[in-house]
Order: sequence, then structure tokens, then C-alpha cells
Amino acid sequence: MVPVFHPRFVNDPFDDPCLYIDIQREGRAILFDLGSIERLEAAKVMRVSDVFISHTHIDHFIGFDHLLRLLLGRDKKLRVFGPPGIIRNVEGKLSAYTWNLVDDYKFNIEVHEVSVESISTAYFIASEGFRRRDGEKRLWKDILVEEPLFTIQAAHLDHKTPSLAFSIKERFHININKDVLTRLDLPVGPWLNELKRSFREEKPMDSKFVARLEKEGGYEERLFTLGDFIENRLVLITRGQKVTYVADAAGSKENKETIVRLAAGSDTFFCEAAFLDADRDKAFKKYHLTAKDAGGIAREAGVGRLVVFHFSPKYGENPSDLYEEANREFTMESPPP
Ligand SMILES: [Zn+2]
Ligand SMILES: [Zn+2]
Repeated sequence: MVPVFHPRFVNDPFDDPCLYIDIQREGRAILFDLGSIERLEAAKVMRVSDVFISHTHIDHFIGFDHLLRLLLGRDKKLRVFGPPGIIRNVEGKLSAYTWNLVDDYKFNIEVHEVSVESISTAYFIASEGFRRRDGEKRLWKDILVEEPLFTIQAAHLDHKTPSLAFSIKERFHININKDVLTRLDLPVGPWLNELKRSFREEKPMDSKFVARLEKEGGYEERLFTLGDFIENRLVLITRGQKVTYVADAAGSKENKETIVRLAAGSDTFFCEAAFLDADRDKAFKKYHLTAKDAGGIAREAGVGRLVVFHFSPKYGENPSDLYEEANREFTMESPPP
């Protein structure tokens, strides 16, 4: 299966959190958190369409200025999702600069402030000097973003301030069987993307589909229904990819239960592990998870792969202890009921 999401951290696990998720199929990327992004190549920054902020402690939001600097001259909309207060936070960042020469700029920012039950939106448009313009408020539950390719879910955690956790889930995965292409004498080409799009739009199975096939120096058109491709097994629909990201959160029972629900069945689970279990009093005081917490949550949520990050600098000499503790707990057999 060719994955749709390609997540990778911009920095090492001791530095600011920022998970860059490339969605190559759509020529765009999203960010979970926005710590320093100085190390991210400009071409990659340009692809960012959406940013999801867990909370606005400085190590999770300081990259905003750098992102703004690179996107400013673009004809582009940036969407920012974040916890209560995010509209004021973005407004504060923008009001730190002078915007008298940007009347003809096309760039704009849409900020979605995610409270437990509602989402408030505000707009900041470059050509208006980024003056805040308040928009609509809507109710929401679980799902923040819904697109043909994926949905993004969020949950509120407690970090002595609200901290959002996020899951991105491909709605379903479309596999193209190359052997069937050969058997039916169908060439690869742009028509396959067209075909995938029709499945993504969930058109009825008896919808007509004209395949525009590239054949020696020209095109040949062949008529199918979408159902034909299921029947001849060219298209196989399987479960979609799921990636979950959990940053700073206290190791409370309530937080853990919320994370297990959000992360359930993830292919990859990125989870903060600031401290070792031996230092859990420090983790408790600072409202952070331990490596053992991360491993236990991953096991309960039945994830495929656990990636821990956001280590306290005190383990700078010995991060392997954190990986080992998380992994030991993750791979431990669950006690019999
Ligand atoms: Zn924090
Ligand atoms: Zn942090």
C-alpha cells in the first residue's frame, strides 16, 4: 500500500515540536504544531496549507513568524486551527508588524478557534493590513475538517491550559492492481487519477466512467461503470491510513482515556514523552506525559507504531532510556482480564 500521508518531524526530539505531514497526492502539506521551522526547506514551507496548533506555549508556536514571512507574497490562504485564545494569539503576532505596503497582496489567514463545543472563525487579510475580521461560530463534535481524501479529528486535553490532540484519517484507501491493468491491456496514465477521484467523491457504482487511455500517439476512449472496476478487481478499497499526534498533556486518567479513544487503530502514533517514569513527580508538576504513559496509551489504543518525542533536556545524554521505557510498555502483553 502506498501511503497517502508522509509524516516527519522538522526537528530532533529535544527541539521544538513540528510534525510536517506531506500529502503528495494533493501537492500540499499540513503541520501539527509550529515550533521553530528554520530547518525546513523553503519549498516545503510553501506547500503548507493548514496548521494545527496544540497550544501556544512558545516552543509550539514560535515558527508562525517564519511561516508568515515565506507565505506572505503568495496568492494563498493559510488555515490555522488552535485552542481557545488562538485568534487573539494570531492577532497579537500580526499586530507586531507594520503593514502599510501590502495593499495588493493576496495572502490571507483563516483562524479557527476550537473550544470544547464550538469553533469561532476570524479572518486576517493582507490587503486589509491583517485587521481582524470576526466570522461565524459553529458547533462541532470530534471532526474538525472533512475533505474528500481525509478527515481531521481533535480532542481537548489538559496541560494546565487546553491542549489539542489531532488525528488525520484517510477516509478509505484506493489500491490499483497493476496485474489487472496488464491483463485488461489498460495503460497507466492520468485516467487512473480521474478514476480515484470518482471513487473519492463516492459516486454511485452504476455511474458512467469514460477512461481516456493513451495509446500510440493518440487517445482511445473506453466506457465503463465504476462498478466494473470493483468487479474486475482493478480497484480494491481498503481501510485508510491514520496518524495521531499528541503533544503536551498531563498524565491524568481522563487525558489518557481521551487519547486512547482518539488514537484507536492509528498506523502511527506520535506521542510526547517528556520524562521517564522515575521522574514522574516532575512530569506531574509540569503537566506532561512520561515515556511509560506514552507506551501504555499506545498499547491500549492498538496502534501500529509509536514514535515518542518532546524529551526534557535533562535526558540529553541518554535519550535511549526514554525510547526503551516507552517501547517496553507498548509491547508488554496485556494482563488477562
Ligand atoms: Zn506546553
Ligand atoms: Zn511543549
